[in-house]
Amino acid sequence: MLGCSPPFPGYLWPNGATITYFFMDGNDVQQDKVRRLLPQWTVYGSVQFLEVLHTEDSSIRITFTNGEGSWSYLGSDCEFRKNDEPTMSLGGIDHEQSNISKCEQRNILHEFGHALGLLHENHPILKHAKPPDFRGRYFLGNYAQLDITSIMYFPLPRELTGVSYDVPLSDSVSDMDKAYMVINYPRAEPHPDAPDWTLEKALQVASLPDDYRTWILESRHNVEAMRYIFFDCILRERYPTWTKSPDSSPTSPLVIAQPNEQSGDGFTDIRVIERVGLGAVKLPETGKGGKGPRIWY
Ligand SMILES: [Zn+2]
Repeated sequence: MLGCSPPFPGYLWPNGATITYFFMDGNDVQQDKVRRLLPQWTVYGSVQFLEVLHTEDSSIRITFTNGEGSWSYLGSDCEFRKNDEPTMSLGGIDHEQSNISKCEQRNILHEFGHALGLLHENHPILKHAKPPDFRGRYFLGNYAQLDITSIMYFPLPRELTGVSYDVPLSDSVSDMDKAYMVINYPRAEPHPDAPDWTLEKALQVASLPDDYRTWILESRHNVEAMRYIFFDCILRERYPTWTKSPDSSPTSPLVIAQPNEQSGDGFTDIRVIERVGLGAVKLPETGKGGKGPRIWY
């Protein structure tokens, strides 16, 4: 695994990108909830969202009404979708009440986290030797250490995780989430609305080992290098046993990292979909390559 480049930086947008989004439906009340929440991500990273009025100008297309609940394609993978196709579904956003409920805030911030390239933040399976078919991908996280306060945290029942508590869904961007943005979309200077979020602080919050901190700081003018060092650190810190025994676990990230035989990229066709529960969801085949849909629960 570690001989390969960690794959997920490939889903991040170019640093400094302006990501255009288009509302395919929904009324002003629903749309405005999205507009109001987006700065909670972008204030930390060097990336902006820009609403556009024509679908053909958009990278992200949002629907509120397609009945599929909430999901999003992952990061820059949105660019490979047809421009009449939604890349994000936001279910359950009330169209009358302008105040944003905790549940709505969670939904919107979480899906835009995926749209920025963040995965689910999850416990590895600890208790069951043979869990249901999670296709491995479910168990990756974004950070060197598990962050149960992450907006990307996606709880599993305690029976599966082996821990003795249930963690409630978070409805706000956590410090680790903020640190992720600062490190992976680095700003020349912190945003005036988040003046203390320097790269140094983010590396501290992210609890990276000293050598990785040093390497990232030394690479601070090379965003691609920073991203790869960061992801390499995640894999080394968080999945050491998996990386040692690639074939012994059905949840090994090595399964995830195997390149697609046809496209050479095992990650070109991941669709991120929310699902509370453990069953499989079949989706129509989409994407630019691969043998079938890759689904993210
Ligand atoms: Zn999700």
